[in-house]
Amino acid sequence: MSANLYDLLASRFPADRSRPCFLLSGGAAISYGELEAGAAHVAGRLAAEGVAPGDRVMLQAEKSPESIMIYLGVLKAGAVYVPLNSAYTPAEVADFRADAEPRVIIDDPPLWVAEARAHSLMTGSAPRASGDLASLIYTSGTTGRSKGAMLSHGALADNALALHAAWGFTPADVLLHALPIFHVHGLFVALHCALLSGAPMVWLAKFDDAQVLAGLDRATVMMGVPTFYTRLLANPGFTRRRAERLRLFVCGSAPLLPSTFAEFEARTGQRILERYGMSEAVIITTNPLAGERIAGSVGYPLPGVDLRVDEAGEIQIRGPSVFSAYWRAPEKSAESFTPDGYFRTGDVGRIDPDGRVWISGRAKDLIISGGYNVYPKEVELVLDELPGVVESAVIGCPHPDFGEGVVAVVIGQGDEAAMITETRRSLAAYKAPKRVVFVGELPRNAMGKVMKNRLRETYAGIFGGG
Ligand code: AMP
Repeated sequence: MSANLYDLLASRFPADRSRPCFLLSGGAAISYGELEAGAAHVAGRLAAEGVAPGDRVMLQAEKSPESIMIYLGVLKAGAVYVPLNSAYTPAEVADFRADAEPRVIIDDPPLWVAEARAHSLMTGSAPRASGDLASLIYTSGTTGRSKGAMLSHGALADNALALHAAWGFTPADVLLHALPIFHVHGLFVALHCALLSGAPMVWLAKFDDAQVLAGLDRATVMMGVPTFYTRLLANPGFTRRRAERLRLFVCGSAPLLPSTFAEFEARTGQRILERYGMSEAVIITTNPLAGERIAGSVGYPLPGVDLRVDEAGEIQIRGPSVFSAYWRAPEKSAESFTPDGYFRTGDVGRIDPDGRVWISGRAKDLIISGGYNVYPKEVELVLDELPGVVESAVIGCPHPDFGEGVVAVVIGQGDEAAMITETRRSLAAYKAPKRVVFVGELPRNAMGKVMKNRLRETYAGIFGGG
């Protein structure tokens, strides 16, 4: 029997295919029938262009329903979906192309799908085994080199079914979808829950205060990153009445501050459900739907997830949704797993006597700004090339809006604003430093390594946080 993820999702589409899938701003909608037909045309076009099962299809574009038709069409054709952050520069995209060697690259999904409609439909989906690759999700590496996490049909299906059950999704739900769809959160976590329910999504291209507030009047579930919730709370239009229709607010991808959790509860009477996940394993733990949700804890491991904390405090996991390896990186893959098969998450945390998981930090130096990952090394490599820079150390500092803001501590001289502008030429805007500080020397340990903890302490208040 085929384990193609497309077949699982399509088997849950509503019997009445005229039911809306995407509720667009301005009142228009795209039905499940149209989504299904779009995916069939996409699969037909891919086959006509010689895309065989296992071939990569890369997409970098602004968010649109057509991107989802392409995602589903790629699955249906048995190919591998490779979404890229829309903020990546051409130089960054060139690296991903060289690594993934996609057979097809798509940068204008509406046009690509419109043209695909001229191609024959692909009726059946390509047979796939559970372990066959469905998607390659790029996560930057601490060395500055990106790695593609290989996620199989079986891994994605298993996680989607677990979340659908854990969060109590039904066809009566309406999901507010304002997340980007090049990342596991918007693409797999949110989308799959809606599709498995045959439920509509209020489909927003991005987080826009006014559109989100209006969307809340139609939705029953919202999924977001912490920044979404701090923005909502900063808006006086976000009232208790506005949140009344919703049965569930889910949050993840970065730590949710207990103060945000408390303020949200005070404003709406509802407790945000925080969960923990990553590109390499989709969702790992979640607070309970029915039981108590505790601020600061990411809840319990999902059914089937085997989670442990080693003596150094690192969270390690094993389970059906964990990725198989990093694409074409056997050494990195081998390093990332323990000899007994647990994935080393790089997150530091603990399990309390009740079985709840708490995350206290990141073993690696990853910065999460506005829900996006920034690897300091990548920014440092760019800074170090600039005139006037002897050496740089990039850290994340508490930021009231983004959670963490990128700060560059630079040995050398220069103009702060000009340097920020310069880095934006080669880096996506979210990775560029928000502040540059010039110093005479950097604090180092006996081995000559820069002590970033020290820098984080020194500049903790740079954005007025702390
Ligand atoms: P990504 O692969 O982009 O999804 O980033 C994964 C990382 O985000 C994890 O390894 C964690 O460090 C962090 N993360 C995700 N969810 C949470 C959460 N609820 N609390 C704290 N950190 C989180």
